[in-house]
Amino acid sequence: MNTHELDLLENAIDSLAEALAKFEEGDGGEPKAFKFAVLHMAHFVELVFKHHIASKHPLLIYKEPFSAKVDRNKTITLWDAINFINNEAADTVSPALKKDLEWLKRLRNEIEHHKFKMEVPEVRTTIGRLFRSVIEFLEKYTDIELESLIPEQTMETFQVLSNEYEFKLRTALKEAEEFEAANPPDHHDPDALPARLDCENCGNPTLVKNENSSTGYRCLVCDNEEGENIPANCDICGVSSTQGELDVWELDDGRYEYRCYYCSGRYHADKDD
Ligand SMILES: [Zn+2]
Ligand SMILES: [Zn+2]
Repeated sequence: MNTHELDLLENAIDSLAEALAKFEEGDGGEPKAFKFAVLHMAHFVELVFKHHIASKHPLLIYKEPFSAKVDRNKTITLWDAINFINNEAADTVSPALKKDLEWLKRLRNEIEHHKFKMEVPEVRTTIGRLFRSVIEFLEKYTDIELESLIPEQTMETFQVLSNEYEFKLRTALKEAEEFEAANPPDHHDPDALPARLDCENCGNPTLVKNENSSTGYRCLVCDNEEGENIPANCDICGVSSTQGELDVWELDDGRYEYRCYYCSGRYHADKDD
């Protein structure tokens, strides 16, 4: 690697580390920090793509490498870099990634011109998706090993952003916490249902109340709607219980009914034993 390439990569990594730190601040309850996460992420993407071009030939980083005297103040843009890559082999930078990069560019412009309106969930989701696509590109087409280059303290955020499941999990945990905070237990109503429960399918505390679910709950991570811990009432006597403790009875017309220990007849059967 020549000096210019090294500079580009080093600066790219610095920007990435800043982006990760700001993303973490944003998730930590500082929504304004996402603004800076966007700016740093945009800078990282630009530099890392330029680095990729410079690694093919150092002069390719300049706007006019074939002129009699190369003007070293005029360097290529991110879009020049992407066009070059796709001219080498079509769709190396996929249409989907290009769309996200357009989004990033638009957002950066809006931030720089103070027209930015924060839509935190959209910003989070798109940054995550875009970052995963960029990582995929780097893994496929370059020798850059981001994980070994970023500072230790940003590693956890790197893992969250680079892994779709980890990202979804963190998002769901945040949503579940917010939902629970917005729906505190009603101490005057002994039959009030808890806002969130542990999901027995994926093991996360993300099973929250959901009107569209037949059980009244749906997991924000895995969409599971079942669970032995889900509150339910006996369909005969109305006693409060959980799905796991109630017996399921199939009725003559094919519908199901939940019955408690007493109403199911188990109590009498046990007593007679
Ligand atoms: Zn689940
Ligand atoms: Zn009963």
